[in-house]
Amino acid sequence: MADKLIRATAADSGIRAVGVITTRLTEEARQKHKLSYVATAALGRAMSSSLLLASNMKKEGSRVNIRIKGNGPLGGLLVDAGLDGTVRGYVANPQIELPPNAKGKLDVGRAIGKEGYLYVVKDIGYGYPYSSTVELVSGEVGDDVANYLVTSEQTPSALLVGVFVGAEGVTASGGILLQVLPKAARDESLIALLESRVSQLSGFTPLLRQGKTLTEIMEELLGDLALSILPESQIVRFDCRCSFNRVLGALKMLGEEELQDMIEKDEGAEATCQFCGEIYQASKDELAQLINDLKTESV
Ligand code: ZN
Repeated sequence: MADKLIRATAADSGIRAVGVITTRLTEEARQKHKLSYVATAALGRAMSSSLLLASNMKKEGSRVNIRIKGNGPLGGLLVDAGLDGTVRGYVANPQIELPPNAKGKLDVGRAIGKEGYLYVVKDIGYGYPYSSTVELVSGEVGDDVANYLVTSEQTPSALLVGVFVGAEGVTASGGILLQVLPKAARDESLIALLESRVSQLSGFTPLLRQGKTLTEIMEELLGDLALSILPESQIVRFDCRCSFNRVLGALKMLGEEELQDMIEKDEGAEATCQFCGEIYQASKDELAQLINDLKTESV
C-alpha cells in the first residue's frame, strides 16, 4: 500500500480525524540512516506525528518541526514535515539497540528517555515561526505529541502512532490523530468517547498488518458517528530539500579564513546532510570561488 494521508470529520464536524500510512518512507529513512530497530521505530513514530500535525495547517508552504531530546541513549531526534506531505528526519545515535520492553515491543521510551523535552516549531507560512516546549510524558513519542496538543494547543486530542520493523525491514508504519474541534471542545462526553475509542485499539500497526486500509480503520473507530471521509487522499513521502547550492551557502558563512584553511589543509570540503545522509563535496576551486564571492560582496 502506498504511503498516504486521509482526512475526515465526524460527529457533526465536532471531530477531526487524520490517518497516515508511512511504511515506505520509514523504510527509506531506515536505509538512508542505517537505523537500528528501536531507532527506526522512534523516527517513524515521530515522522508520522509530524505529518499528522502538519496536515491541519492552512497556508501553502507551512511546516512543522518536532524535536525530542530525552535522557536516553538515542540522544534526541528531529523531524520536519510539510503540509505538502513531505517529511524528513534523523536521530542522533542511529545504531543503538535495546532489548524489548515488558510488553515485548521495541523500547522507544527507554531509547528516548522519559525525562526531557519535546519542542515544536510551526512555520505557518507567514515567516515567523511559533515554538513551544513541553516536558516528555513517556518518551514513547505518541503520548508526548498528544500531551503537547492538549497542553500547548489546548485541543483535546488522541494520537496513536506505530512502526513494525523486523529483519525484512519496515512492514507497517503510520498513525491516526483524532481531535475535538473548538466548537465541541467543551463537550466532555465527546472527549471521553474519543479517548475510549482509541484505548480500545490494540495499536495502529497490528491493524495495518492485518491488511486493513486507512478507511477501514477510520470506519472501525468512528463509523457510528456520522463519519465523512474526504474523497481525495494525499501522497506523503520522504523528501529532503538539501542541495549543493545550500551546502555552498553554508560553507560561505564560515568566512574567508576558514575557507582558505580548508583549501590548504583538506584540499576541499565534504559535508553530509544530517536529514538524508547525502554527501556533498566541494573542490578547491569551488571553495576559491566562494572566497572570491565574499571579496566582491564586501567591496
Ligand atoms: Zn538532505
